[in-house]
Amino acid sequence: MEDAAENSTDTTVTGNEPRSAAAPPAWTRGRDITGRLVFLGTGTSVGVPVVGCGCGVCTSADPRDKRTRTSVAVGLPAGHLLIDTTPDLRGQLLRESIARIDAILYTHDHVDHVYGLDDVRPICYAAGRPLPVFCEERVETRIRRAFDYAFEAVPVPGGGVPKLTFERITTAPFTLLGAHVTPLRLGHGVFDVLGFRFGAVAYCTDTNLIPDETWPLLAGLDTLVLDCLRPARHPTHLSLTEALAVAERVGARRTLLIHMGHELGHAAVSAALPAGVELAYDGLEIPLDVAAV
Ligand SMILES: [Zn+2]
Ligand SMILES: [Zn+2]
Ligand SMILES: [Zn+2]
Repeated sequence: MEDAAENSTDTTVTGNEPRSAAAPPAWTRGRDITGRLVFLGTGTSVGVPVVGCGCGVCTSADPRDKRTRTSVAVGLPAGHLLIDTTPDLRGQLLRESIARIDAILYTHDHVDHVYGLDDVRPICYAAGRPLPVFCEERVETRIRRAFDYAFEAVPVPGGGVPKLTFERITTAPFTLLGAHVTPLRLGHGVFDVLGFRFGAVAYCTDTNLIPDETWPLLAGLDTLVLDCLRPARHPTHLSLTEALAVAERVGARRTLLIHMGHELGHAAVSAALPAGVELAYDGLEIPLDVAAV
């Protein structure tokens, strides 16, 4: 086997070009996450541990204190949805044995939510077709600028690029992979971002303000996934005190906090949380009961 690989002239997967018929890749489709929401990452933009930091959380032996950048994979009735593409995307998909993604949905255009997009190349190749990207105009503009090589009029021979198609979304509800999706406008400092509701589960990352028009859309939730950066206030993220106030007002059966920094140690903070509120962690999975449409 080794010799065959070494002698082949086409053993490098660059992303899009066909491989030699003599050595077909043994693609796995990974596991099926239909009916599940998988926390790929639960950390803030620099991740936890923070490079160079020797604090108790960054040096903790608790695996729940290891937080990659915030993202989830959602098993919808007609396929797997990825919400955001973090710089940790490749490691997240390998860790969770998720090899099939049928669409990407973006919350906003910040680096920690977008810049792992190139990691979808093997997924595009295995699917044999472009990956649909659902986002607002600002996100599409960022992607076209940051990944300009993917949109060249004349593709570079042999150059692997992510193959994408764009689907514009607004705050209007839409159907995606057999599910009804309700966008949720959220304030993130001076930025407007989107959260999303699937059935009785809402995903609200990167926010420090729930606008008036969004509160009614959070009624009757079973599970609220909510931004919570740290104990102290911050200009673009909810503090722990603010997140707990949002959780209480929404009144979901279960609230799971995400996008956490190294100021929040899992065990110590968890012990002091009110009933029904938990810190999420990388690899956590929750059920997602979404009626097919
Ligand atoms: Zn973020
Ligand atoms: Zn630290
Ligand atoms: Zn952000």
